[in-house]
Amino acid sequence: MSTHHNPARLRRFLAQLTQLVQDETEEAPLLQRGTSLLQELVRHDDWLPENYAQPSPERYQQYLLYADPQNRFSVVSFVWGPGQTTPVHNHTVWGLIGMLRGSEQSQAFTRDASTHWQRSGPAHVLQPGDVEAVSPSIGDVHQVSNALADQTSISIHVYGANIGAVRRSVFNEDGREVQFISGYSNDTLPNLWDLSRETPSHPATFH
Ligand code: FE
Repeated sequence: MSTHHNPARLRRFLAQLTQLVQDETEEAPLLQRGTSLLQELVRHDDWLPENYAQPSPERYQQYLLYADPQNRFSVVSFVWGPGQTTPVHNHTVWGLIGMLRGSEQSQAFTRDASTHWQRSGPAHVLQPGDVEAVSPSIGDVHQVSNALADQTSISIHVYGANIGAVRRSVFNEDGREVQFISGYSNDTLPNLWDLSRETPSHPATFH
């Protein structure tokens, strides 16, 4: 992990994503192009501010990094402590999951004729740089866990709405569906816009 803080990467990603949701309303090409953008973002682990990379011993953390003012997307850092796992859950909107640090395991679920959710195929293990997609049209229900028993893992998630405010569902093992709204772990967002910290200031310039 590099300690060099390079918020320009996230800023560039947000600009590209904003352009993408303006240009593309069809889900398939949006996911395809969004995957390329997210792959580029998570290819380098030198830009996520420390405050949004902190695990909690209580549960996995969901730090909002940015929300589009028109509710077209949100970007979240998911921080897993060792051994932490989500319940089986849905999203109801498209989502992209990009592995930044460590490793996570994702198990897809499908519904059978009796309306019970069961494992669909083998679990996927994501390594840094990998990106995976979910959505109601391509498979929206999964269970995700830190694949590492002794390390923090971090993935960067992009969703087609302000995901912390979306009413969605957890599916219990007994088949019961429970609604939830996830919210976020943070009260404040990273300041990506103070370029004076990134640009060497000219000695003759005062303001
Ligand atoms: Fe998920």
